[in-house]
Amino acid sequence: MSKLKQLPQLTLALLKPDIVVNPTIRNQILHKIQSHPHSFTIVEQKDILWKLAQAKAFYKAHEGRFFFERLCGFMTSGKFTALILAREDAIHYWRQLIGPTHPCRARVVAPGTLRATYGLTDTRNSFHGSDSDDTAKREIKLFFPDFDIDEWRRNQNS
Ligand code: UDP
Repeated sequence: MSKLKQLPQLTLALLKPDIVVNPTIRNQILHKIQSHPHSFTIVEQKDILWKLAQAKAFYKAHEGRFFFERLCGFMTSGKFTALILAREDAIHYWRQLIGPTHPCRARVVAPGTLRATYGLTDTRNSFHGSDSDDTAKREIKLFFPDFDIDEWRRNQNS
């Protein structure tokens, strides 16, 4: 029986300002995520500096939570890096690689993950990853409006 090769999936990842402020760490991470065994392909990459309104819109689902203002302040404190990553099951594997939201918890339950290694606090937790296919599509469109997902898929198939 022939083994079907799974097509790559896309996800949207952010390296948050606490990572981007340190170019050496940022480059280490960019290298690590492309290397074995993670083997993500960086399809697109962009540095972004948000205005407060953009941060508030992106994190609207958390509006009213105790950490909302702190989170939006952090995400506008400096540049962050947005990436479109590809590999099979990219959404699952990227979230697995970054680990749980809270770095202190990550150090206990998922040592070796990126947040366990680099995360500073619950808010300054270094990374973001889309949590579903629909979210990934929406977030890719937001950060890379000129990127055509359907065309990218067609090129993978040809
Ligand atoms: N966050 C925070 N305190 C919390 C929970 C979340 O500051 O108690 C921040 C953190 O930066 C997190 C972001 O809010 O990454 C979005 O939270 P979400 O629950 O969506 O977690 P994620 O999907 O990023 O792991």
